[in-house]
Amino acid sequence: MKTDIYLDSNATTDTLPAAREAANRAMGDTYGNPSSIHSAGLRARAILNDTRARACRLLGVGSGALVFNSGATEGIQTAVLSALCSLREQRARGERTGSILVYGATEHKAVPESLKHWNRVLGLHLEIHALPVNGCGMHNLAELRALAADAALVCTMAANNETGAVSDLEGIAAALSGGNALWLVDCVQALGKISLHLSSTRIDYAPFSGHKLYAPKGVGMLYVRADAPFTPLIIGGGQENGMRSGTENMPGIAALGAVLAELEEGGSFRSCAQLEQAREKLIASLSRAFPDLMINTPLDQSLPTTLNVTVPSIDSGTLLDVFDAAGIRISAGSACSAAKALPSYVLKAMGLPDWRSSNAVRISIGAATDDVTIDSACSRIEQCAAALRMAFDDGAHADGIVRNGATCLDDHLPHADAVTAPGGVANKVEPAGYTTKAQEQAPHAKVDPSLQIGAAALPDFLKLHVGTVIVDVRDPVEHAVSRLPTSLSSALNIPLSRLAEAVPSWLALPERPPILFFCRSGNRSTAAGVLLRQLSYASAFSLDGGLALAAHLLDATNKTYGDPA
Ligand code: PLP
Repeated sequence: MKTDIYLDSNATTDTLPAAREAANRAMGDTYGNPSSIHSAGLRARAILNDTRARACRLLGVGSGALVFNSGATEGIQTAVLSALCSLREQRARGERTGSILVYGATEHKAVPESLKHWNRVLGLHLEIHALPVNGCGMHNLAELRALAADAALVCTMAANNETGAVSDLEGIAAALSGGNALWLVDCVQALGKISLHLSSTRIDYAPFSGHKLYAPKGVGMLYVRADAPFTPLIIGGGQENGMRSGTENMPGIAALGAVLAELEEGGSFRSCAQLEQAREKLIASLSRAFPDLMINTPLDQSLPTTLNVTVPSIDSGTLLDVFDAAGIRISAGSACSAAKALPSYVLKAMGLPDWRSSNAVRISIGAATDDVTIDSACSRIEQCAAALRMAFDDGAHADGIVRNGATCLDDHLPHADAVTAPGGVANKVEPAGYTTKAQEQAPHAKVDPSLQIGAAALPDFLKLHVGTVIVDVRDPVEHAVSRLPTSLSSALNIPLSRLAEAVPSWLALPERPPILFFCRSGNRSTAAGVLLRQLSYASAFSLDGGLALAAHLLDATNKTYGDPA
């Protein structure tokens, strides 16, 4: 059993063992340059050809082109550049063209940012229009139909990365039938989960990314329909038929080939029905753990691998922290800004109120996630909820944990006041002078390097400094749900926000033992160490990089969190 229960597969996935082996071989025996004409080159070229052939079969590329590149962000740039260059050429020839660039309001940021960037760089100054979606994340097809005749390029996604909402591609194609717009479909989250036969659609460009489906980061593919305009983003040695120069990322392509082979004929990936069942189990467990759970994913119109939820009584930062302490990796549905979670633009576009979208979390399993992992996740989720309830029952108000009946564990914001948003959700109002999450995450400037003890040096440090006081400065709930390396298991738990209460007794000690602080990332513990040293407690130390970098110190018996067998 792994320490990590990784449920953030829409962000990235692990790599399949077969993918790692293939990448290793491509860096070992078959390290040749696929452009070389000697035998080493030919062996590399065979891998390149084999991966492309598999991708073409799986995606129904037909007479279109399948170009290897660095990932979907590059694929999106290339598609947008190609469409806009063609538009500019048409205009230069005096031809009538569409004048609006349309993108779905829930697209990955790579899409609207690319549209803005290339529209400006190419001096086109076209109107850029966000196409609204409904409460299930489905595009407004009536509006698209009305725009179709004037649209030059339309960008939609096959499936959404935050909610898993699967777009109605046939409906979009029908809405576009009244015009000549080029059509980009971001297929990143669809690969391996939705069957695609690209050449039988009117899709012009479809970017894919290896690291969302068990291949490494830095490899991707772009489908280009036969006859769709194309302008290379990168020019040089003419690789990829002149469509993308630069020596191919052969370890990445070989690994992607191994993943595609598993998709075509292997047993690594689970069926849609099995993935649905896994998601159902997670929903059941989450509902037991958090009875006020709200599901933001349109379950019957979404990828079976994605679940976006809000627990009204618990803010997303809290859930993330507690889950992370319990070894469950999930993500907020939105980026975090300086002081508090920003409402997710995806959920906002779906019409969810800010309190619900800013507290959303995304749980995304991979197409290869097995039942053991799901069962462990369910049991740990329920353990986290029990620990949060216990904190609530213990009257955690004093720690700034519970506000307005809501659980808002956040020792980074001690004594923060609360306001209640619609639906009774507590929002934090940070008083000046307290540590915000962003400050906590920012690296500490000018910290005396002697404060930091690296995880590798920890065993020797503790041998040398017998009697070290070890202090976990995380929140009590994080402390309660986490497993600690044996070397740290004697830790006292004194959250950073309550450190001031312990400091006088330490300062009064006639002989000051070393104090080693630790937390998840090393930031809170660095703050604690800096504070103590400022108070002339010279033997204060911090575990550099926190528990995140010390996972290897967990011994085998300590790794399982009491997961079911
Ligand atoms: N599009 C979607 C829907 C994504 O989820 C992502 C990655 O988060 C991207 C595009 C960008 O992919 P890459 O990391 O390969 O550039």
